[in-house]
Amino acid sequence: MVNQSADGVVSDTNSGDADSNENPAVRRLDDWNAEELQALVDDNGSPLYVLDLDRVRENYRRLDQAFPDAEILYAVKANALGTLLETIHEAGAGLECASAGEVTRALAAGAPGSAVRYTAVNPPARDLDVVVDAWEDHPDLTITAGAEDTIDRLADRGYDGRLCLRVNPGIGAGHHEKVRTGAAAKFGVPAERAVDVLADAADRGFDVVGIHAHVGSGVQSEQLDAHREFVSRMGDLARDVADAVGDLEFVDVGGGFGVPYREDEDPLDLDAVAEATRDAIGDIDATLSIEPGRYVVADAGVLLTDVNTVKEARETTVVGVDAGMTTLARPAMYGSYHPIRNLTADDGAARETVPQTIAGPICESGDVFCTDRELPASERGDVLAIGNAGAYGYEMANQYNTRPRPASVVLEGDEVRLARRRETIDDVTRLETDRRRSDRDSNPETGR
Ligand SMILES: *Cc1c(COP(=O)(O)O)cnc(C)c1O
Repeated sequence: MVNQSADGVVSDTNSGDADSNENPAVRRLDDWNAEELQALVDDNGSPLYVLDLDRVRENYRRLDQAFPDAEILYAVKANALGTLLETIHEAGAGLECASAGEVTRALAAGAPGSAVRYTAVNPPARDLDVVVDAWEDHPDLTITAGAEDTIDRLADRGYDGRLCLRVNPGIGAGHHEKVRTGAAAKFGVPAERAVDVLADAADRGFDVVGIHAHVGSGVQSEQLDAHREFVSRMGDLARDVADAVGDLEFVDVGGGFGVPYREDEDPLDLDAVAEATRDAIGDIDATLSIEPGRYVVADAGVLLTDVNTVKEARETTVVGVDAGMTTLARPAMYGSYHPIRNLTADDGAARETVPQTIAGPICESGDVFCTDRELPASERGDVLAIGNAGAYGYEMANQYNTRPRPASVVLEGDEVRLARRRETIDDVTRLETDRRRSDRDSNPETGR
């Protein structure tokens, strides 16, 4: 919790929690060391994703302390970097996967089947084939079906393993309508159908182990009432299923734990969320599961980018940077706010503060990270840091405009390691198979 002390200094202390000084509830962009970050760009180029694995461990530990009796599964889609999955799994988390590709990466990271859950949303046949194949080697993995069709398609493939049903509780919470999944018919079987569907699945020989719902991302403290209502519906449903079908192993209430993107926002009161969850779920003879994604990684990551252009436009100062909507899609996609800091201007030399529109190199008007934000006047060659980029950053990066995806480095203790090299233009084009010219290597830009 952010407290204002008597002398007006804002500090990240949480009275009553002895651990909080080493493990503050949020790491702000200002808490990162500007010189160290700038050196990373000098060594690895721009744009560059940076992920601090020690901070990931701290975030996991805070969740584990707030929810001591719950199973915690990290939602891989927030950030699927292999070394990160290994770190989180080692710390004790299971891995919640949204695709066959994520299941493959989770198993490759050393997670045993018992720690892997695959949440199938309109799963392509290829995904089911791959996951059922993986199940033959890892019979303890769990598949969460969100439609009766999916259960039929699993049966067609000979799957009779651990089955969880994703239900649609008809209630949503979250920071943007595109991520308010609980209310969207796309996700899950209507909750009122769940008992019948699970009874039928049990009759057909599936090992029915749980029920699941995920109502969307960005749940904040002020939405606790909606969270309480959702969780209490899940508790009711768990009791109905237990009566009609048999005991469940777990009740999974999904992820969606919010993080403060704005500097003046307070961090989520995790203990309050945990208490509300425990109260609302009531008496169940099953383990509570949670699936945080964003909360584990968001503030452990920053995106670094060089300023390449400063232009006085009629309305504003436009600051052009190397990173764009292909590097970090959230501002263009959701209108999300990300804190931005000029690391070079941190060197003490006073700079005037001016409103700036920071824009990427993509030929789209939506390719801006902020509009008219007050920041120290940028100069060509400066390095900017974009905060809270650890979640849904690299994972949503793409190659639009034939723009290779950036490199990623990880920090751990005193170590800096390149975790994923920067793509080359050749990486982007190498899958093309119908080419009339074969002398592509004459182009120095391809890296060949
Ligand atoms: C995306 C997702 C999560 C994680 O959501 P966060 O907002 O990152 O915590 C958890 N469970 C499921 C099923 C998801 O699709």
